[in-house]
Amino acid sequence: MERVAPPGTSGDRAGLGSLPRLPVRDQIARECVNIAYGFFSPLEGFMGLSDLDSVAREMTLESGYIWSIPILFDVSQDHLSVRGIGAGERVLLTYQDQPLATMDVREVFTYDLESLAQQVYGTTDSAHPGVERTYNYHDRFMSGPITLVNPPQINPPFDRFWKTPRQLRQEMEDLGWSRVVAHQTRNVPHAGHEWLMKGAWLAAEADGILVSAVIGEKKTGDYIDEAIVLAHDRLREAGFFRQDVHRTSTLLWDMRYAGPREAVFHALVRKNLGCTHHMFGRDHAGVGGYYDTYAAHKVFDELPDLGIKSVLTLEWWYCPTCAGVAYEGLCGHQEQKQDLAGTLIRSIIQGGVEPAPTTLRREVLEVVRDCAEKYGFGSPFVGEKYLANRTPVMSMPKLELNGEDTGCTCRDK
Ligand SMILES: [Zn+2]
Repeated sequence: MERVAPPGTSGDRAGLGSLPRLPVRDQIARECVNIAYGFFSPLEGFMGLSDLDSVAREMTLESGYIWSIPILFDVSQDHLSVRGIGAGERVLLTYQDQPLATMDVREVFTYDLESLAQQVYGTTDSAHPGVERTYNYHDRFMSGPITLVNPPQINPPFDRFWKTPRQLRQEMEDLGWSRVVAHQTRNVPHAGHEWLMKGAWLAAEADGILVSAVIGEKKTGDYIDEAIVLAHDRLREAGFFRQDVHRTSTLLWDMRYAGPREAVFHALVRKNLGCTHHMFGRDHAGVGGYYDTYAAHKVFDELPDLGIKSVLTLEWWYCPTCAGVAYEGLCGHQEQKQDLAGTLIRSIIQGGVEPAPTTLRREVLEVVRDCAEKYGFGSPFVGEKYLANRTPVMSMPKLELNGEDTGCTCRDK
């Protein structure tokens, strides 16, 4: 399913100039794109009250389809009133001062945010980033279907990696992949990640591995998005994965850190991308101490078949006796394990020392250093300069609504 106005047709854009306009922030723009291209299938728009209530309480849409994370368009009643927007209206959503999508507003409603936080995140503690996001919602939610009228342009280096579900499924078909295991990441891959993917490929008897890098809001200290995607792709380029078994892709998503619920969401989205399996490791999509280390492993036991199987993995670490990267489920020298922790990898990246291939591939480190120069203002980690000056992942083409149709550069053929 795609809700994108076909390129070169003026029909869908006729009359757009007369619609009330509503500017949207980055998160909502990304979610419009995801809805329109089917990343969030079966959703065709932002959720209404009955779907929200059902997702919050039962982890299903009103239709009974399993769905774990509310997809909400929060908006201020003042903004709606000023523009004369209400239920029954069609509005033009704008982003970066350009038309993005139309929305047929079905409902404008409220929901108790504390109970929403409790249901989705299992806590009402505003120190939890997902709960904080919930508490920061505007005072109303607006539901209704979305149609993209001006598909955004994805900027380099992400343009090679951002593919619609339809494009990804086609690519998998062309590669002859029928069993595909998804790897969710927000990291530059170290040796543990590489072996996690290799182990999951074996466990799933997969034809291919799809790295699905989550690209969204960044905070200081995160890896820069450019380094994440290019470093993963380098594992394939350098032959640590055969050319025909590994692909890197992006998902435009702002992490909610909802632990088990987010794991279910990740599985549903990767199913839409054509994956048959999804790997879940330690503390998947968790934060702080809010969830059990393996909560994401247990949540699937209580759910019916989602159409995508989970591949549950324990940790990979360095073991001096095994003399290599070893698996928690196999290595008998637990007391000697050397964790491939993020902090260790960061110190390797920041230091000038050549890493051992049992920690970080030299080829990966080279990419990370190149990215620091080219995209990161000297650092592979997000800093103030990067936040203020980076090239956005998505840019809106200019779309003139009055007079001649200028046509759009729709990337999805
Ligand atoms: Zn060992």
